[in-house]
Amino acid sequence: MHRFHDKLIEVRDRVQRAAERANRNPEDITILAVSKTRDASRLREAYTAGQHLFGENYLQEALEKQNALSDLNIEWHFIGPIQSNKTKPIAEHFTWVHSIDREKIATRLNEHRSENNQALNVCIQVKIDDELSKSGVPVNEAEKLARSIGQLPHLKLQGLMAIPLARKDYQEQCNAFQQLQKLRDSLQQKLGYPLPTLSMGMSNDLEAAIACGATLIRIGTDLFGPREKKTT
Ligand SMILES: *Cc1c(COP(=O)(O)O)cnc(C)c1O
Repeated sequence: MHRFHDKLIEVRDRVQRAAERANRNPEDITILAVSKTRDASRLREAYTAGQHLFGENYLQEALEKQNALSDLNIEWHFIGPIQSNKTKPIAEHFTWVHSIDREKIATRLNEHRSENNQALNVCIQVKIDDELSKSGVPVNEAEKLARSIGQLPHLKLQGLMAIPLARKDYQEQCNAFQQLQKLRDSLQQKLGYPLPTLSMGMSNDLEAAIACGATLIRIGTDLFGPREKKTT
């Protein structure tokens, strides 16, 4: 049983080739394994294959897996929508949060992040092209949110995240990712400090994301296979 291992080799290979085409160092691109709906045993298999970063969307499901896998040195990323009454466990049990899209959530995560922990690494989720999406701050409100997060001592703003509409056409995929890249570049200038992380690219568009500067790609299906069920 080396299913995950083989998939990981394939994804790493795609990253390598996309990076070469873009004249980028493949080591500047981190693979986050998106493990929502996958059992703890699948994550353990993935960990053994060398994948140590996992992204989860549903808090309760994530906490159960963290419990079952507490013997492993996993770096946990929260990538799902955040309800404000869930900010305490998220601040306590994750190293990264990719999906901040309003000030209230940032403030609460900051309040609940313990002094004993390192600052919580966070990204602002930006609504790039999916107007119907409930998640993500509109492009023209990102600067204001970034400035508020900059005031919070227990959060470290690392960059931006987006989930553009699923598209087949490479050029269209690039157009969306370029918008996020441009926004990052301009925010960086306005704020006067680096925003190194561009969390963008999933199974179907990782090549385009890498061409546009992605530093962290979030891969579910192409590592674990199709999703089976949804839990909450
Ligand atoms: C599910 C999910 C992914 C992974 O998507 P795949 O197409 O399965 O690779 C990435 N990011 C977020 C926020 C997700 O919810």
